[in-house]
Amino acid sequence: MVHRRILLVTFPAQGHINPSLQFAKRLIRIGVEVTFATSVFAHRRITKAGDPIPQGLSFAAFSDGFDDGFKVGDDHRHLVSEMRSRGSQTLKEIIAASIDEGRPITSLVYSLLLPWAARVARDMHIPSALLWIQPATVLDIYYYYFNGYADAIKDNCNDPSWSIKLPGLPSLTSDDLPSFLLPSSSATYSFALPSFKEQLDTLDEEINPKVLVNTFDALEPEALRAIDKLKLIAVGPLIPSAFLGGKDPSDTSFGGDLFQKTKDYIEWLNSKPKSSVVYISFGSLLEFSKQQKEEMAKALLESGRPFLWVIRAKENGEEEKEEDRLSCMDELEQQGMIVPWCAQVEVLSHTSFGCFVTHCGWNSTLESLVCGVPVVAFPHWTDQGTNAKLLEDVWRTGVRVRANEEGVVEGDVIKRCLDMVMEGGERGDELRGNAKKWKELAREAVKEGGSSATNLQAFVDEVGEEVC
Ligand code: UDP
Repeated sequence: MVHRRILLVTFPAQGHINPSLQFAKRLIRIGVEVTFATSVFAHRRITKAGDPIPQGLSFAAFSDGFDDGFKVGDDHRHLVSEMRSRGSQTLKEIIAASIDEGRPITSLVYSLLLPWAARVARDMHIPSALLWIQPATVLDIYYYYFNGYADAIKDNCNDPSWSIKLPGLPSLTSDDLPSFLLPSSSATYSFALPSFKEQLDTLDEEINPKVLVNTFDALEPEALRAIDKLKLIAVGPLIPSAFLGGKDPSDTSFGGDLFQKTKDYIEWLNSKPKSSVVYISFGSLLEFSKQQKEEMAKALLESGRPFLWVIRAKENGEEEKEEDRLSCMDELEQQGMIVPWCAQVEVLSHTSFGCFVTHCGWNSTLESLVCGVPVVAFPHWTDQGTNAKLLEDVWRTGVRVRANEEGVVEGDVIKRCLDMVMEGGERGDELRGNAKKWKELAREAVKEGGSSATNLQAFVDEVGEEVC
């Protein structure tokens, strides 16, 4: 058997670790050995979860300067520079040691925000590929921005009636573009756009640049082919196989939760009628203002439906202050459940759910499609606006909320969207029908002989033969 060993390096955020771990599992299943490298903090959390580690998978950790976790208000620039210097050093050491062990690393795959990893691969004479954990459409938009469209976007994006047609993509308004391209993007994240540029410049320096994308051919057929210079290879959805009709019923967890979860909601969900519950989660990073949470609570109470709402505990372990407590907590607790973290894909697969109110992070977006749950799209920043556009107008599985002039989405707007998704009628039926269709197509893509399974095997075969 041909020896293949991939070094997979991942930024230590939940939305990056989840698809990367799944990608590692897919590789192992087709006989590739994987070394998974990430920060000390993320590595500690992954191993603490105590999930069985599949044979063929090993871990390596490097310090990113925040070994106790990165908190709101910490310095992003310090994180990025520490990760670059210490990460590069660690990857070089792993590659060198693998040669001494007689089981050399044969290629390197790096996820978003780590463009320096490709340089390490080049220096060490091994092939590399980027694992793009957002939709192909978003990669295309960044590419177009840095290749001729920046002025058109910058000069017009403040005009609410403006939209742009980029080759191979649907017509996009400012709200549909990644937030980092807009002048309104917060100065705190000013490092993000240069990092995306560096990512694309690094690919440009490659003779045969390869990008593995967490999507599937049927979902983004045109976006995957829009850019001649880049080979986009769809290998998703990168979600535990048990939720994709896979043969291994024990493969249900990502195995890399950075947060403590509770399980006491399952019994409660079991007592609810089919498609009656609303699930609300805004991912692992977003923190909504008290006012926005009050509006959400108002909508839920007025809709009268049971709900499961994830409100994460404070990251620094601080107790909730009295002034942060929602005004109608008692009524909320009578009608639904509020939890600090849950097993999201397992939850979405439960038949009691009829709607997912999501911030449209790419993982949550894909999970809504894989589980066939229609959505209320509630995007906030980064790629979420683009994902919401795709959900609402291209895949047509959801409706999108719109904020008022102060940037707050009012309770009655949320309630109206919830009703549209949950109730019968033409629109609700169309959304449910489409959600079901994408669920089937996602399963098709990953099954043996499906597009993503075939694409992954072809990638592995090709990099195995490449010489740098
Ligand atoms: N997630 C989870 N439990 C929760 C909330 C989120 O397991 O209570 C997972 C979710 O399934 C997804 C990831 O966290 O895989 C969040 O990634 P996403 O890209 O949706 O958003 P981000 O956190 O990056 O904003």
